[in-house]
Amino acid sequence: MIQIQCKETLYTYNLYHIVKAFFPDTKIEQRVDAGQEPLVQLKLDGGSCFCVAQADVPYAVGQEKKRIVTRLVYEYLSEITGRRMVWGMLTGVRPTKLAMQKMENGMQTEEIKKFLMGEYYVSGQKASLAVEIALRERELLSRLDYRDGFSLYVGIPFCPSICSYCSFSSSPIAVWKEEIDAYLDALCKEITAIGSMTGGKKLNTVYIGGGTPTTLSAAQLERLLHLIDETFSQEHLLEYTVEAGRPDSITKEKLEVIRRHPVTRISVNPQTMQQKTLNLVGREHTVQAVKDIFRMARELGFDNINMDLIAGLPEETAEDMRDTLEQIKELAPDSLTVHSLAIKRAARMGQDKMHRSLYTEITQMVEDAAQTAEKLGLVPYYLYRQKNIAGNFENVGYAKVDKAGIYNILIMEEKQTIFAAGAGATTKLVLPHKICLDNGKETNLIRTENVKDIHEYMSRIDEMIVRKEREVSEVSGLMETQRNK
Ligand code: SF4
Repeated sequence: MIQIQCKETLYTYNLYHIVKAFFPDTKIEQRVDAGQEPLVQLKLDGGSCFCVAQADVPYAVGQEKKRIVTRLVYEYLSEITGRRMVWGMLTGVRPTKLAMQKMENGMQTEEIKKFLMGEYYVSGQKASLAVEIALRERELLSRLDYRDGFSLYVGIPFCPSICSYCSFSSSPIAVWKEEIDAYLDALCKEITAIGSMTGGKKLNTVYIGGGTPTTLSAAQLERLLHLIDETFSQEHLLEYTVEAGRPDSITKEKLEVIRRHPVTRISVNPQTMQQKTLNLVGREHTVQAVKDIFRMARELGFDNINMDLIAGLPEETAEDMRDTLEQIKELAPDSLTVHSLAIKRAARMGQDKMHRSLYTEITQMVEDAAQTAEKLGLVPYYLYRQKNIAGNFENVGYAKVDKAGIYNILIMEEKQTIFAAGAGATTKLVLPHKICLDNGKETNLIRTENVKDIHEYMSRIDEMIVRKEREVSEVSGLMETQRNK
């Protein structure tokens, strides 16, 4: 067991993740004791102890103090283990954020790389990747109108069957079959209300996700897409994604419906091209179905198709992943999103029991996926790491230069307002400047969450619309005040 004792809560998050990265299989106990003398005391297995005293950070305060303390602990752990982490002491979910901030502050790319390597011990390869992605994110986001533009998310919380690793709140369509029209009634009401709330604003991106939107029948899909066409002007639309997702929900008729609307991008997600794994995780479709649906979509004229893969599905080896990647290469999607299943797998196995060989295996899978993406002419355009997990697993989106999913970046960068409709959907209203909330936290993001429960969503839709209208009106007032300052 490793004990981390901190004088202030300021360091706890960073130190936990740094220690976990070096000792993934060891239990960590963390305590905050305002009365203790050193700022940080680290007691390792075997009795060795490391302290950071106030004298080690004489003039630093706040974030700078946290950075120095984290750095000292990182240096110590690196020295005693003889190891370095590829993302160095960056523990956040978005390691590219720092590169982006520096870029926005006018720092040149070579300087940013040096800064990440020198100040945060990021490896040369990851520093280059962070800068490469930040440059692409910046270019893609520059197409959005932050002031008068907005994005729309529509959630369909149904799936053909529930995958064993699913962390979304999705329900099997068969159970809800008789109530889908009622769900659509509520959803359409909310979309229409969003149309009124956003009158005069520019719709930049649309994302229909879930769940699996293509669990709707062709007629239900038509109803939804037609309403969106009627409600919002497409004049400023940059991207319109429908997550077709599970091949066992897609038919030619549904793809034809989607084609009749201004949808620019769809996802056909195999997650793996290993039949044994699909069976094991409860995805009731075949590998052949993935290929057939993908080719059908191409024949119908879809020229921007994303495929999602997961590294680390149960009982999969690096060899399985290599085979999957070979099959994906033949299909040649326009973008490829590679997730790591580390969190869910670790959660089930118990993080501490997660064996090092699994880390090595997943790392290999992720590296092989990166190479395949490169061979397909796809470049990385967004990246986020997984929270609460040791190791350096990342979820990376690769795309042909003009086929990247802007919405994917938007949900992480939180620079433009996203109106969200559907059970469990969260509307994020973005203010130009930060405000101080009642709890003392500073933010420029105001969230309005819909209830997750589908029955409750349907029965309380009016209440949720009124709440959203109230928030929007308050935020609009704040925006005006901030802009006029
Ligand atoms: S397809 Fe996606 S949302 Fe649906 S059950 Fe599987 S993981 Fe969950």
